[in-house]
Amino acid sequence: MIELSNAFGPSGFESEVREVFGKLVADQTEITYDNLGSIIAAHHGKSAAPKVLLAAHLDEVGLMVRGITPGGYLKVVPLGSWWPPTLLAQRVVVRSKKGDYPGAVGAKPPHYLGEEERNRSLKLADLYIDIGARSHDEVATLGIAVGDPVVPAVKVESLGTSDTLLGKAFDDRAGCAVILQVLRELDGAHPNRVYGVGTVQEENGLKGADTVAAVVQPDLCLVIEGAPADDFPDTGSIVQGKLGGGPQIRYFDPTLIANQALVSLAKMKAEQLGIPYQLAVREGGGTDGKEIQRSGKGVPTLVIGIPVRYAHSHQCIMSLKDLEATVKLVRGLVDIFDEDLVNKIKRNPWDSSFTNPR
Ligand SMILES: [Zn+2]
Repeated sequence: MIELSNAFGPSGFESEVREVFGKLVADQTEITYDNLGSIIAAHHGKSAAPKVLLAAHLDEVGLMVRGITPGGYLKVVPLGSWWPPTLLAQRVVVRSKKGDYPGAVGAKPPHYLGEEERNRSLKLADLYIDIGARSHDEVATLGIAVGDPVVPAVKVESLGTSDTLLGKAFDDRAGCAVILQVLRELDGAHPNRVYGVGTVQEENGLKGADTVAAVVQPDLCLVIEGAPADDFPDTGSIVQGKLGGGPQIRYFDPTLIANQALVSLAKMKAEQLGIPYQLAVREGGGTDGKEIQRSGKGVPTLVIGIPVRYAHSHQCIMSLKDLEATVKLVRGLVDIFDEDLVNKIKRNPWDSSFTNPR
């Protein structure tokens, strides 16, 4: 998890994180790629069918250099969705042809802020990156150019509580970590073929989801997502993603209504394994599941979330207990997806009365 989180990989620039994924993937898998950069690790079980796709995205939210000001500041566009105030005064890394350079998102000190400026909501266009240069030419000598990618400069740290980590890109390196661990634990006795994939450009329009689905042509899909936690301190609202509360079984987000048979099977499996779980009906957001579910003739799909506090910011917090519980749940589900069960799920997506076939 640590190596995955620390790896550089905003949308469209996933080579380093893909290399880490490829290095950590189990030996007994067959590796292929799509033509956009996604990695596909196939693990053979007792049968070549059904094809079970486990999908997580490699990319993280980042920025791209749009221009260099005469004074040597970098203006940027987003790669993925940011709430601009979270960027203010944060450290970043700019990756140029000549190497990586640290920088900070510039913030005027309070001494220079007028009343109107203090109260105005920030836009990304208001922000700039300061790498310590004083002129356009100085930036150019570092090799930094228009089109260079930028990510948060954050390395994983353990927090005081025994099971929590602080770091960047847990959305969706947590999902990648779950898939890599599940692949490692498979022993070939599973009644299907498992495809563990790291997709590219999820944060920039779910691009790898489309191409991976075209390559694998799955019969069923579990999307494993570092999903935004909602256990904020000052809210009396409905909490569906509590840190340490276990994997989130997502009924709904605006891009996907889960296959009800899969929801009931996931709940049943979690109960059987004694795993805590949470149910989520999300008012916003979306995942690779949007594209995968409607590929080919349609693919029964379920999103399983690992709660991540402050997703899409520099400082994400997650619990290793949730990660472990999600591995157990996904591993348990992989074991029951045989041809007979998957055909039943396909034939009746609304059937929430499945009992455990094993
Ligand atoms: Zn994500």
